[in-house]
Amino acid sequence: MIEVENGDACTGCLICEMACSFHHSRMFSRSQSSIRVNKSLSNPEGGGQINISYDTEAGIPVCDLCEGEEYPLCIGLCPQNVYRLKGRES
Ligand code: SF4
Ligand code: SF4
Repeated sequence: MIEVENGDACTGCLICEMACSFHHSRMFSRSQSSIRVNKSLSNPEGGGQINISYDTEAGIPVCDLCEGEEYPLCIGLCPQNVYRLKGRES
């Protein structure tokens, strides 16, 4: 399971959302992402939440740990190291 470890460092760049949607659909679309970043790029200090969907009823793709990719894209591509794989130290 992917965990948000360092959410305060998030800048709201949405790279993780786009990467996740590309994994699921080979498109860049927020509706195709398991991740939803509720944070403003223009006001990253303004708080907000990051949610990762594991709910099959939510109507968006469920995180599958980037099955078929070389690594979990959100972990590998987030410039702020916000995510980690639960159960791993790094
Ligand atoms: S890639 Fe990282 S910094 Fe950018 S929105 Fe996602 S969690 Fe925040
Ligand atoms: S591991 Fe892959 S599928 Fe899961 S949230 Fe991260 S980018 Fe999306």
